[in-house]
Amino acid sequence: MSHVRDEDVLADAIRSTDRVVLLAGAAVAAEAGIPARPPHLDWHVYGPRMRAIHATGPGPGHLAARHLQDLGLLEAVVTESDDVLFDEAGVRGVIALVGSVELSICPACGYNEPLGCLLDLLPEPRCAACGGTLRPDVSESARAEALAHAHAAVSRAGLLVLADAADAPESLRELSAATDTTVLVLGAEAPGATLLAAVGRLGS
Ligand SMILES: [Zn+2]
Repeated sequence: MSHVRDEDVLADAIRSTDRVVLLAGAAVAAEAGIPARPPHLDWHVYGPRMRAIHATGPGPGHLAARHLQDLGLLEAVVTESDDVLFDEAGVRGVIALVGSVELSICPACGYNEPLGCLLDLLPEPRCAACGGTLRPDVSESARAEALAHAHAAVSRAGLLVLADAADAPESLRELSAATDTTVLVLGAEAPGATLLAAVGRLGS
């Protein structure tokens, strides 16, 4: 595992493979103005969070992933955040370890409400089918099925890029420790901007 801040070094590493797996921590969301995921699924916190996510656009890390995908170099994105900004950037098959705010679900009947409609139901969203209280489709820790998908993606990777500090959440650390592939750590300060700059250099 090596730390890299220099976009030329990162660009050279990306050139050596066509199977980059991006492990995105909270730092990538922070660059788009979205704070770290709150520990509890309280609507007083999640309501404003969902509004903020809905109102913002992809940040540099999300756009960098999209560019890698367009260049045919992206194997997968694994994100620890609950936002939908990689999806919004047009990245396909995002592995969201804890789920995302895209849906809110009714624990009583299973009905679900997409983010756009959910915002109209705040501050205490109720199920349109049974009147139960909805909750964001987000877990407090990584889901087993998503982790299995992430491990499979990591096993196919030619390069792992950890877009966060080395002391990123346990799930991302576990994934980056589970491979013999090169792991580059971008750090918590503007990792997406570093990656975007590196991707911009791939043609040169
Ligand atoms: Zn219901």
